[in-house]
Amino acid sequence: MKQELNTAIVLAAGQGKRMNSKIQKQFLEIGGKPVLYYSLRCFQESPLIHNIILVTGEKDISYCKKEIIDKYGFSKVSEVIPGGKERYDSVYAGLLACGQCDHVLIHDGARPFITEEILERGMAGVRETGACVIGMPSKDTIKLSDEKGFVSETPDRKNVWTIQTPQIFSYSLIRSAHESIRKKDMSQITDDAMVVEQETGRKVRLVEGSYMNLKITTPEDLATAEIFLDIYQSKR
Ligand code: C5P
Repeated sequence: MKQELNTAIVLAAGQGKRMNSKIQKQFLEIGGKPVLYYSLRCFQESPLIHNIILVTGEKDISYCKKEIIDKYGFSKVSEVIPGGKERYDSVYAGLLACGQCDHVLIHDGARPFITEEILERGMAGVRETGACVIGMPSKDTIKLSDEKGFVSETPDRKNVWTIQTPQIFSYSLIRSAHESIRKKDMSQITDDAMVVEQETGRKVRLVEGSYMNLKITTPEDLATAEIFLDIYQSKR
């Protein structure tokens, strides 16, 4: 049987305006290392991953190469490329840089605590369906609001998940979905599953991640991540 080739696209080109920090969130440190280091390490060590594309700001490329990739020996990183204005532009740049592969895992570099178990569950999901996203059942009740700030709907909590990354797809599916949506209005697009749902009609499977797989977005998240780090490291 032909060995499958899986590429991880790690996104680190965001400005992180909600962090109120001069340093972008993916480069802030937890446990003395940049946030981005932890997910790159997981992909580097995983036998499921064969290639890593790092997408970052034009001005951050040399920092990433010197201070993260070379420093920690992340030899699977084949390309460090500039991202775009919106997240989906950065994803598209990553997709163009992938070369031949069977599956792509699109991951937020601002999410440090992915694990080999999450990658195993995700790869099992994508082999079955061609499209899956990592997430967790919501612990909170979620309410949808109307334009005036009143509750318009309360979805049944059993069916509500909060979505994380990686989001994992067959390469041909996500590439053609992105090609097709780029000709349209993309202002509502916040993740890659939406692109696949809208452009291909393919059902996207939900796969359990973990409640520790948080995205560093605001200063509180950084404090939480410092606490999670000990638990994360002890489980490795
Ligand atoms: O802004 P948000 O929290 O949705 O960003 C999620 C991830 O996408 C982050 O890791 C961020 O660096 C990345 N991103 C990107 N290019 C953009 C916007 C966000 O690579 N234009």
